[in-house]
Amino acid sequence: MTAAEQEASTESRVVLVTGGSRGIGRGIAERMVRAGHRVAATSRSGEAPAGVLGIECDVTDAGQVEAAFAQVEAAYGPVEVLVANAGINRDTLVMRMSDEDWDAVIAANLTGAFRVARQAARPMIRNRFGRIIFISSVVGLLGSAGQVNYAASKSGLVGMARSLARELGSRGVTANVVAPGFIKTAMTDELDDKLVAKYAEQIPLGRFGEVDDVAGVIEFLAGPSGSYVTGAVIPVDGGLGMGH
Ligand code: NDP
Repeated sequence: MTAAEQEASTESRVVLVTGGSRGIGRGIAERMVRAGHRVAATSRSGEAPAGVLGIECDVTDAGQVEAAFAQVEAAYGPVEVLVANAGINRDTLVMRMSDEDWDAVIAANLTGAFRVARQAARPMIRNRFGRIIFISSVVGLLGSAGQVNYAASKSGLVGMARSLARELGSRGVTANVVAPGFIKTAMTDELDDKLVAKYAEQIPLGRFGEVDDVAGVIEFLAGPSGSYVTGAVIPVDGGLGMGH
């Protein structure tokens, strides 16, 4: 890294986290605020943690995405770090999976991520700096019975990130994928203890991860130490995917 790059990289960045109202996205937004960045978080509810600009935005709606970026730009300036985290699942076995189950998951997880990345790319190219980070899942590369739609959407993010890495690399923009395993969120809190123990047996570290385990990797990728990492899939899964 050159001295000029080093200096620029220690600046407070403008960060946008999609799906930042709860769970992993909320934890990422909170951690990025603690790291000194100016952070906005979008979700359909528009809720956001303290110190974060909350914006109502459904990533399946192109107009709302455009408006959300305009709102961030007006408040903080152009987005420099994009964390495409918003995601849903509609799990069921393939024989029972409806077109609606398929379409809804692809629309939110894959098309939504494409849409925010496209919106972020122009100012990032102009400013010759950008970090695009997609939140995928261990399931994207391992596969999972009952999650054909979800796994397809999450592995699609890998091809998208690697194509963006090639397309935007010469402009100082990196694109990476973070693939969490089982992370403690409201959803996993509802699982019964026996099921949690069964899942934990398959994880080399023997436990579920914390939201902050994922957030720490995001802080690294967004910061100066992550400047030479692009096109990567970084697992945060206690070894479940064995590095994929
Ligand atoms: P949550 O369901 O707790 O949070 C999802 C977030 O996305 C919420 O803020 C939700 O807000 C928002 N969201 C959902 N749909 C949309 C939409 N159409 N437009 C805008 N925002 C939306 O999920 P997690 O925190 O558990 O997961 C976050 C990400 O991490 C997801 O992409 C998930 O696939 C991935 N992941 C999670 C794992 C885990 O163990 N928890 C493991 C691996 C990956 P609102 O409902 O208000 O829109």
